[in-house]
Amino acid sequence: MLRRALLAAAASDQIRGLLTGTPAARAIVARYVAGDNASDAVRVARELRAAGLLVTLDYLGEDTKDALRAAAVRTEYVALLEKLQADGLTADGAVEVSVKPTAVGLLLGADAAAGERLAFENIERIAAAADAAGTTVTIDAEDHRTTDASLRIAARLRERYPSVGSVVQASLRRTETDVRSLAAGTEDAPRVRLCKGAYNEPISEAFTDPHEIDKSFARCLRVLMEGPGYPMVATHDPRLVRIASALGLARPAGSFEYQMLYGIRADEQARLAASGAVVRVYVPYGGDWYGYLVRRLAERPQSLGLLLRSLYSPGGKHQPPGPPGRAPFGRVAPPSLRLVVPPALRSVRGNAGRPTKPPTR
Ligand SMILES: Cc1cc2nc3c(=O)[nH]c(=O)nc-3n(C[C@H](O)[C@H](O)[C@H](O)COP(=O)(O)OP(=O)(O)OC[C@H]3O[C@@H](n4cnc5c(N)ncnc54)[C@H](O)[C@@H]3O)c2cc1C
Repeated sequence: MLRRALLAAAASDQIRGLLTGTPAARAIVARYVAGDNASDAVRVARELRAAGLLVTLDYLGEDTKDALRAAAVRTEYVALLEKLQADGLTADGAVEVSVKPTAVGLLLGADAAAGERLAFENIERIAAAADAAGTTVTIDAEDHRTTDASLRIAARLRERYPSVGSVVQASLRRTETDVRSLAAGTEDAPRVRLCKGAYNEPISEAFTDPHEIDKSFARCLRVLMEGPGYPMVATHDPRLVRIASALGLARPAGSFEYQMLYGIRADEQARLAASGAVVRVYVPYGGDWYGYLVRRLAERPQSLGLLLRSLYSPGGKHQPPGPPGRAPFGRVAPPSLRLVVPPALRSVRGNAGRPTKPPTR
């Protein structure tokens, strides 16, 4: 319920202004995001590699509104891959990149086909740069309206770059069918990341009961683990990690990997890696962190409590020094944005700061 309210609230410009103008948000962002630029991303990738973890880097941004921006995102990824290669981080896919199709133009163009063509061309350039650097690309999953196009783009790219990965979301009703087709075949089944799904989806398309999502995850996981491809098990959920470990016993060593997000369950990442498992950390970077932060907050009401406390206590310890109303990044929040309770957050304001039940999803 809280999760759905938050994800719906994320679309509001007023809430975007409130959250991005809050020092507590900046503190939370620092936990989940490597930094603002490619050098930060490379630094964090180097640290994680030194700790025995693999990495996938995501340049933050989604729903790109014009083709120039989509091209700039492509250029950023290509430059990032060059930096990573120069640092010796890309060999054998140790550090790869994750790309969101809407960040490189999927929703642009006169019609859906034009958007898909543009996204394909941009990701193809990124995949070529990744290939030249000895690594690869995984195509992130976004909301259900993009699923078909994203899977098609990945399938086309695999004709030339077989290691390009797809992502599927256990929350979508269609996913069990999708994984069956992705896991079909004998030798050339692809790399597939299975996650629960971070988007607010209509009930016609998605399971909303967390237990249904977990059951779907377990079913999809079994299909992938029994198939010939390379499963990438993207979850922090201890129960699902245990199920993956049990299913993985029947597979050759190193034939699947665990994936977790930067800043979440770092102890578990280290534990799995120390046990000999392959573990990859998904590390986002860049200034456009708002959508990503809201999705992480939706999964973690405790962090939301911290944020709301600071919003409603001007003298609180998370307020920046200086006059009330001054927002970080040198921007002054307009009076109308101060202490305004956005309707979509009203239902959770009363809970701010109090311990909440751990999220199940
Ligand atoms: C590597 C990776 C890639 C992903 N790629 C995509 C993608 O392409 N598309 C997409 O829609 N989604 C993606 N996701 C997000 C995913 O869909 C879920 O929204 C997210 O992983 C939370 O689900 P969970 O499986 O960890 O289970 P949850 O039930 O949310 O969490 C299980 C446990 O993990 C811990 N935990 C979870 N979240 C947090 C947090 N924010 N802070 C601290 N602890 C936490 C808690 O202990 C919690 O009880 C990705 C996730 C990962 C790990």
